[in-house]
Amino acid sequence: MPIIKSKKSLHGALVSHCKKSKDNETETIPIPSKVKIPMIQHMGAPCSPLVKVGDQVYVGQKIGESPEYFSVPIHASCSGVVKAIEDFNTPMGVSCKSVVIETDGQQTVDPEIKVPTANNKDEFITAVKESGLVGLGGAGFPTFIKLAYKDIDSVKNLVINAAECEPYITADYRECLESTQNIVEGINLVKKHLNIENIYIGVEDNKPEAVQVLNKAFHDSSDVKIVRLKTIYPQGAEKSIIYATCGIVVEEGKLPADHGVIVLNISTVGFIGSYMKTGMPLVSKRITVDGDFVSNPKNLRVPIGIDIQTVLEYCNIKEEYGKVLMGGPMMGITVNDTLTPIIKNNNAIIVLSKEASIAPPTTACIRCGKCIAVCPLKLMPAKLEKAYDNKNVELLNELHISLCINCGCCTYICPAKRHLAQKNQLAKALVRNK
Ligand code: SF4
Ligand code: SF4
Repeated sequence: MPIIKSKKSLHGALVSHCKKSKDNETETIPIPSKVKIPMIQHMGAPCSPLVKVGDQVYVGQKIGESPEYFSVPIHASCSGVVKAIEDFNTPMGVSCKSVVIETDGQQTVDPEIKVPTANNKDEFITAVKESGLVGLGGAGFPTFIKLAYKDIDSVKNLVINAAECEPYITADYRECLESTQNIVEGINLVKKHLNIENIYIGVEDNKPEAVQVLNKAFHDSSDVKIVRLKTIYPQGAEKSIIYATCGIVVEEGKLPADHGVIVLNISTVGFIGSYMKTGMPLVSKRITVDGDFVSNPKNLRVPIGIDIQTVLEYCNIKEEYGKVLMGGPMMGITVNDTLTPIIKNNNAIIVLSKEASIAPPTTACIRCGKCIAVCPLKLMPAKLEKAYDNKNVELLNELHISLCINCGCCTYICPAKRHLAQKNQLAKALVRNK
């Protein structure tokens, strides 16, 4: 299996990596007294609760489901009794129901759990759907939908995203080191059921240990290439990693699968490997807890539905911090209420100091062009900002606003500290609602 160094890279920003937690093995957090499990943790339709107040539930039991195609089921992460079914607003501003479980500390596994049958592609895809799996790198896209692409027989390339380009986060890196066998099995299952011919594992070249471990694990697989990527943010963005690994440019309005490629995050394939031999659905998550305010960073395995406050207390993080983010500092969401539960696609809790949380004052654009130079999609963020301010939907479309991936590089680099990426988010909403 060759290791190759990618010579291709879309533009991006050289952000400080601060991977302080990289050598910290994953600890399992004690089971909390309560978990609150939102009925939407993915892109797509929300689930409806399948349980009622007073029900006994077990680990891995399906507690939420939707009749819609674009959705995945939700499972109990802890055994205990359902104490409430209540309304919940996600940090993304979506309203849904949540199932609150008072845990019993026993972690009794649902007796219905069994190793899934997957003798062919359709059974495999059904199993992946039933596992409740969504992209674990942060996007929350239901994984089975990628695998069930209408013309999947034409897809011959699988890109495994192990770039982990956001500062601080090392959850995927720890997956490489701690769950290598699951990754190998997950990749082999996807390859077998989807008839994949070429596998590219993209790892930024600041993670030589991960390259070494994966190289050893795939030493006799000639169809697997480990691609060392330039360390630049957002190398892990879907379009960036596809270009850097297999040289394919995903056109505007097209899916990667339209170009014969699908991308799966490395923890996502690791989970597939684990699920297909145990039948335990997605009920827990590895997260990195770090940030400039955190002196003792950790990688933790947490049950889905645990609240952030409990995680902060476990890590001995006091309340003098400035800001808490779900996800990395470039694309993460600010958490206003630390009782917010951790969901499937959270890969980090980043705690910033008060100094790091203060937004510097915005000044006028000096037309330096730096925002254009860093944009991986070659957009013109300063022009987009102006078009949004003028509510000029036609111009926003001409400037290809739909291509913006909200990576935040333009905001990061701007010497005038203009909120370019945030404006683009608003601009996309404006275009959508027209
Ligand atoms: S980086 Fe900032 S100051 Fe420079 S052109 Fe872009 S918006 Fe203007
Ligand atoms: S315009 Fe969008 S894609 Fe380009 S740098 Fe800014 S946030 Fe990233």
